[in-house]
Amino acid sequence: MMREHWLAPEHLVYPMFVQAAGARQEIASMPGQYRWPVAELVEEARRLHERGLASLMLFGLPETKDDEGGGAWAENGVVQTATRALKRALPALQVITDVCLCEYTRHGHCGVLHATASGVEVLNDPTLELLARTAVSHARAGADMVAPSDMMDGRVGAIRRALDSAGFAQTPILAYAAKFATAFYGPFREAADSAPQQGDRSGYQMDMANGREALHEMQLDFEEGADMLMVKPALPCLDILAAARARFPVPLAAYQVSGEYAMIKAAARAGWLEEARVVRETLLAIRRAGADMILSYFTPDLLPNGR
Ligand SMILES: [Zn+2]
Repeated sequence: MMREHWLAPEHLVYPMFVQAAGARQEIASMPGQYRWPVAELVEEARRLHERGLASLMLFGLPETKDDEGGGAWAENGVVQTATRALKRALPALQVITDVCLCEYTRHGHCGVLHATASGVEVLNDPTLELLARTAVSHARAGADMVAPSDMMDGRVGAIRRALDSAGFAQTPILAYAAKFATAFYGPFREAADSAPQQGDRSGYQMDMANGREALHEMQLDFEEGADMLMVKPALPCLDILAAARARFPVPLAAYQVSGEYAMIKAAARAGWLEEARVVRETLLAIRRAGADMILSYFTPDLLPNGR
């Protein structure tokens, strides 16, 4: 009765990696996390759903990449195929899809690349149309919610307009609204094979030093029609979450990223931390700061009939 916060399955979203070809593969820097072939992904999702899993977030690993990222919006792309299979098998499981181009482009950037004298730059506006096309293809495959993670300016509005005119006015957008450039994403890039070949993402991701700018970015996404706003990474950004909670009426999500997961796993394996307690305390801190929902690789451990 006295507790202010707790963790329940409806607070948790499990991020999962789905691959177009090949056998299941454990991700070396994220022990216990895998790249799943579609059929096995559905079976794992079924096991977790039976134990209470309410929603998952899908990241795709295509068979081939190109310069534009065409696999991102292909009708039979890996995310589209997996979404259809999941929704057919488990209609009550909420499927959120990651909308970005970096897993699908050879260069590994989140948008259309342009070579300049001093290196490369990502072209914001031409990227918007491709992201919108990707989001519509996910909705058509049955995605319950789309989550643009690219951080291009104006993409929430572009995706909203595209969804509305394709007949998906009811499909909500979870915007990665405050996404900081951080080394905490390192293990994910191995998992999703999405490290940029050249340059980095500091041109379109947030500077870790800037809190007010993060709130401004969230404001823009909110005004463009985001139904839910995300802060990423989670634990290094509790101040942003708390400030956002006071400022925005929509639900907030926080992404406990791969590096946060790897840190706890590594310390637990070395016998330096008590994993289960640290995971709970960390997630409760993220809830206390203001997150309505948390994307966490620890989700399976927190379901009612835990591992
Ligand atoms: Zn990206």
